[in-house]
Amino acid sequence: MIDLIERLTGTFGPAGSEGKIRALLCEEVGKLNHNYFVDTLGNLVVTVGGRSGKKILTAAHMDEIGLMVTFIDENGFLRFTNIGGVLKETLLGTRVVFENGIVGIIGREKIKEAKNFDLNKLYIDIGAKDRNEAQKMVRIGSPAVFYTPFNRLGDRIVAKTLDNRIGCAVLLEVLKRLPSSLPNEVYFVFTVQEEVGLRGARTVSYRLEPDYGLAVDVTRVGDTPEPDYKMEVSLGKGPAVKIKDSSVICHPQVIQLMIETAETNNIPYQLEVLEKGGTDAGAIHLSKEGIRSGALSIPCRYVHSPGEMVDLNDVENGVSLLLELLKKNW
Ligand SMILES: [Zn+2]
Repeated sequence: MIDLIERLTGTFGPAGSEGKIRALLCEEVGKLNHNYFVDTLGNLVVTVGGRSGKKILTAAHMDEIGLMVTFIDENGFLRFTNIGGVLKETLLGTRVVFENGIVGIIGREKIKEAKNFDLNKLYIDIGAKDRNEAQKMVRIGSPAVFYTPFNRLGDRIVAKTLDNRIGCAVLLEVLKRLPSSLPNEVYFVFTVQEEVGLRGARTVSYRLEPDYGLAVDVTRVGDTPEPDYKMEVSLGKGPAVKIKDSSVICHPQVIQLMIETAETNNIPYQLEVLEKGGTDAGAIHLSKEGIRSGALSIPCRYVHSPGEMVDLNDVENGVSLLLELLKKNW
């Protein structure tokens, strides 16, 4: 599974430009014997199980945050805007890569007050000598993502976009381990454009009309020095059962089912209340006349930075919890 995680995190796929990551996911799904299709916006939908029972939509977003070129100056420096929730304080000195493989480094103008600096004080240097040369390498609207290595640190891994390639890895692993028959019809959906407002999840849940929705994504933790918010979730203490975030208050029936399933199978779990942040369940639960929804979260440090960290035990326990959940009658 670690090889798979490394390939997933190393593949380009900012919101709106998911072609490469979707191709990799299709390749992985294609190795298994399941039906799948890609919808209009680019969501990848894998259908499993019979037509009886309830319809469950489980969703992990495939897109990542990124940057997009807005202006190229006469000296060949690129100005940019954010794609999703980019943290400006993590950008200076960070390398980025464009879809065509062009690499850049982020620099900064002189600023009077460090606390007041804005994205427009930063630029990407791709080594071009002038605008003309830069325009041969990128164009206005070219998206870029972080270009940082994948490292294993004991039980933990550090990489870019573990948000949410780790969720994609969980879904793929569960697909591999599914029993031959399931009590429910389950849609495994790899969604697009979550980072810019849960957009892929919105259209795909409208189309599929599930009875239940379950997002699989990362959540923040409160176990680092002086975190921004006091939070109960820690790395390595199990996957989290989401209770609430900024986008959704999870349905009590789904929360209860997740807790019962974890307890009866001796899977460690944590309860998550995330004060700032959302996930695909936010869009799914508001589809049509409302969908009972919840979320299974993998605890993650440094979310949306160039180096995010998860614990492999949480990932493995997340796979077990989702697998057991899907074997149950909902
Ligand atoms: Zn996410």
